[in-house]
Amino acid sequence: MKIRIVGAGPAGLYFAALMKRTDSSHDIALVERGPRDATWGFGVVFSDRALEFLRADDEDLYRYLTPHFESWPEIAIVHNGTRVPVAGNGFSSIGRLELLTLLYAYVERLGVPIRFETEATSLDEFADADLVVGANGAFSWIRSENEAKFGTTVDWRPNRFIWYGTTKAFNSLTLTFRETALGVFCAHHYRYHPDRSTFLVEVTDATWRRAGFDRMSAAETLSACERVFAPDLEGHPILSNNSIWRQFPAVWNERWSVGNVVLLGDALRTAHFSIGSGTRLAMEDAVALHKAFTACGDDVPAALARFQAERLPPMKKIWDAANASLRWYERMDELVPALTPVELAYSYMTRTGRVDHAEVRRRDPGLARAFEALHPELAGRPIE
Ligand SMILES: Cc1cc2nc3c(=O)[nH]c(=O)nc-3n(C[C@H](O)[C@H](O)[C@H](O)COP(=O)(O)OP(=O)(O)OC[C@H]3O[C@@H](n4cnc5c(N)ncnc54)[C@H](O)[C@@H]3O)c2cc1C
Repeated sequence: MKIRIVGAGPAGLYFAALMKRTDSSHDIALVERGPRDATWGFGVVFSDRALEFLRADDEDLYRYLTPHFESWPEIAIVHNGTRVPVAGNGFSSIGRLELLTLLYAYVERLGVPIRFETEATSLDEFADADLVVGANGAFSWIRSENEAKFGTTVDWRPNRFIWYGTTKAFNSLTLTFRETALGVFCAHHYRYHPDRSTFLVEVTDATWRRAGFDRMSAAETLSACERVFAPDLEGHPILSNNSIWRQFPAVWNERWSVGNVVLLGDALRTAHFSIGSGTRLAMEDAVALHKAFTACGDDVPAALARFQAERLPPMKKIWDAANASLRWYERMDELVPALTPVELAYSYMTRTGRVDHAEVRRRDPGLARAFEALHPELAGRPIE
């Protein structure tokens, strides 16, 4: 088959690798508008569950990637300086560029060329391909130019976030909440390299406007964030990588393919960064599409129909959890002042509706006991 893939992010790269590994006679090529040695952002995280899925799907790739990860068995919630560790939430992280560089090497070794600094602008460029994969990220033009055909919805969420880094090496994945006169500031931070951490700052739209971020320069924005989180940064600077305030687009598509063009990864659906699953979902999409072709051979319409039918149920579950999670952050201006540190940590744990009290007890008995001390009505409840 002649397969052309637009976008060399985790989704496009991994799909290319899987297809080529199965059948080296496939003619596969990727086009990527960015350069080989640069990307946006800093590190990305994978939850332990996400890595277990990768291990189950592809032990080979799991072994190839995981030596490059930083890992911690627990996360922490910091409420105005009080730290509450939360067990039972293991995470690993890696620099986004490092992950991509490893994947570039992996697919190129299999004989798949990647044309960097090449922007695809029209599907006509791929008229002779059997399959065209739109793996070109959350702002995919392949999707946006065909919204009616794909049945696309894009729900722009109100919170603002900016993806920074810092030289401080944090010990675990931590969510730091700081109340200020302007509103609550949240930093999602984690080490992804011995001397680097991601430091993503998130605020509600109301706080963002009160703080005057809409009128600040990039340097003023960075200094303002450094001032809010000075006690947490302990003298380390915040680092920018063309960092700008963004809002999160929650993307969904009713139809995942149109003719021989299929969407994959963030182009197909986005998942809020707070559940650490965007990269995992992108890679699982690739696994599912590859499985559909393994089952259907070169019958492209059958494979694309099978892809959506098989992939929809598990993917929708995570998408729903991601949307529940992002809505929790949208309530931070009310939650943080109203809750104690333990209650905030508990609220965080149960925010997606997938973890109930029994599950908190199982994952972190200490947190469950501390919460029960504040809410005795829960203490005697049996674990279902
Ligand atoms: C602030 C933030 C933090 C995040 N944190 C995490 C995290 O901690 N953990 C996690 O798992 N995920 C995280 N994500 C999400 C994660 O980055 C994405 O879910 C993941 O990268 C999706 O992979 P993808 O291959 O679908 O798309 P992308 O990684 O976006 O790749 C798409 C590629 O397509 C290329 N492209 C676009 N248009 C064209 C064109 N016309 N021609 C050629 N190439 C094109 C782009 O340059 C890009 O390289 C985060 C996202 C954001 C915004």
